[in-house]
Amino acid sequence: MGQDNKSLSFSESVNFMVDRALTVLEIDEGISAAIKACNSTIKINFPVEINGKIEVFTGWRSTHSSHRLPSKGGIRFAPIVNEDEVEALAALMTYKCAIVDVPFGGSKGGLLIDPYQYTRDDLQRITRRFARELIRKGFLSPATNVPAPDMGTGEREMAWIADTYKHLHPEDINYAACVTGKPVAHGGIRGRTEATGRGVVYAIREFFRHADDVKAAGLTPGLGGKRIVMQGLGNVGYYAAKLLDEEDESKIIAIVERDGVLVNDEGLCIENVRNHINEHKTIKGFPDATFSEDGASGLEIECDILIPAAMEAQITKENAERIKTKLIVEAANGPVTFEADNILRQRDITILPDAYVNAGGVTVSYFEWVRNLAHIRFGRMERQHDEMRGTQMLQALEAMTGKQPEEWMKKELASGADELDLVRSGLDDTMRGSYQQLKEVLDSNEKVDDFRTASYVVAIQKIVRSYIDIGVY
Ligand code: NAD
Repeated sequence: MGQDNKSLSFSESVNFMVDRALTVLEIDEGISAAIKACNSTIKINFPVEINGKIEVFTGWRSTHSSHRLPSKGGIRFAPIVNEDEVEALAALMTYKCAIVDVPFGGSKGGLLIDPYQYTRDDLQRITRRFARELIRKGFLSPATNVPAPDMGTGEREMAWIADTYKHLHPEDINYAACVTGKPVAHGGIRGRTEATGRGVVYAIREFFRHADDVKAAGLTPGLGGKRIVMQGLGNVGYYAAKLLDEEDESKIIAIVERDGVLVNDEGLCIENVRNHINEHKTIKGFPDATFSEDGASGLEIECDILIPAAMEAQITKENAERIKTKLIVEAANGPVTFEADNILRQRDITILPDAYVNAGGVTVSYFEWVRNLAHIRFGRMERQHDEMRGTQMLQALEAMTGKQPEEWMKKELASGADELDLVRSGLDDTMRGSYQQLKEVLDSNEKVDDFRTASYVVAIQKIVRSYIDIGVY
């Protein structure tokens, strides 16, 4: 392939990985090219006045596929972002949506900015201006292209984008669905902020339910007590680490952040680390761990599970030989390059791939989009009814047995599901069901021996089916 002497771009890396699945499926070259090609990318330069001076900002929005609409994908604000990166991330969105059966095409956006260098007011003006450009150029609307949060953006930016769209399209009754990841008070859905991290944990739990996969990875059964290294304690990493720490009793023995690594062999308290970062804007000085400025070395700590949750290209051909884990869970997009993936495969290190692992975000974004179109909160109609039926059932039990049900029974049976319960249940179901689809391919196709190829096989089969159904070929 001629990629040995230079590092591949992010897009090339994704495409080479996809090629493995296209080869397994023996997909025609022309169709393969159509699946991999990015439909369109827009580059926008726009001026904003900051402190009395004009600054010109550059942003991109890429639509990789629109076989299903809207196309969906986050918008990142980062000091390093470029067209290739946005196109690679848009492609990942296409495959991700297919894997978890979210009926969207793939898209992604990026704005070249270090958000930490600007005030809230400046960021609001920059975000609104970027959104206006995207809306005017047909790259943002509830029906065609719906952004969400990503690196450097969150519900605050999503609320500004939704409000900008509403002002430009007051006649659109579905305006709130033009973006997901909004605050709950502005049409957001409960559980979206934590969804990607929670989805990562649901994926890991499902992996541990499959004894043969756990054994093949060289791990002992059970997530409890497993030694985990987490890279990135932002939105995705924080919620994933918090759940693993508090609910699964795993040990987060190291946290790699942009300014170094914290290590504590007994396990770090995630809430305490997070509070420290919020207060001091750095992991440095955290009292219950040793600190080293050499963050990259943290990835090479011996552990059971390594979770890169920061950004792309963190495990490359330079450090892949030194990685000492049994399982890599790709919470970030593209953290392992194609070359590193080849090395890790040869070393029999199991990888749960990004396009599956971090799909919890887009899954709950899908729930939010549906909620916005329905104009009603999930569970609003049924909750009281379910509680009443539960109470009646308890009374019937009591009448039949002559015994008072235990307190926990009363609590469990006589409560109806609220929106958060439903979102978590839908997310768990999605992550479990998708894992089982990957597993089916792994177990039934002898040409597939890794989860990444299995995930792309699953995605490509669905994408080709959808193209055939709508008569593209
Ligand atoms: P974020 O900005 O909230 O957090 C990123 C974290 O990584 C920050 O704490 C940052 O300090 C840290 N970081 C940055 N560079 C680093 C480096 N070189 N080494 C170590 N740490 C570093 O972003 P996020 O939303 O958590 O996204 C993280 C990754 O997950 C990205 O790849 C993103 O595309 C992917 N992702 C995010 C979502 C979502 O819903 N937010 C969904 C799917 C995928």
